[in-house]
Amino acid sequence: MSMADPARFDARAAWAALSSDGQRRIGELALVISLAADAQELGDELSETAAQRWQHAADEAWMRLGAGTPEAVDYPAGPDLAVLGIRACRLCGCTETSACVEGCQWIAADLCSSCREMPDGVGNA
Ligand SMILES: [Zn+2]
Ligand SMILES: [Zn+2]
Repeated sequence: MSMADPARFDARAAWAALSSDGQRRIGELALVISLAADAQELGDELSETAAQRWQHAADEAWMRLGAGTPEAVDYPAGPDLAVLGIRACRLCGCTETSACVEGCQWIAADLCSSCREMPDGVGNA
């Protein structure tokens, strides 16, 4: 476990810094977005009207979700999934379920085979 890098986004710390109203708002919108994505898979099991409701709800939730939340521009090093207990490559950020495009495997607890050949220092910023 390395020291927290302030240039990397720590979702756990950002969540803890939100008010309970802010947490509720984001949680509700995230649920709408998650279920709307599920609903897209249902196809003919949904009426046309219900499908429209999910689509409009997802559009609205995406537009509202970013209000009052941290900005990506403040985290030039990208997110840090390790703080959420998700195993991720310390350089490229790939995970068990989101592997590198060319395919990769773990060569250390927090390093994937795609990043083995990177020159020293790359990605350590
Ligand atoms: Zn990697
Ligand atoms: Zn990888």
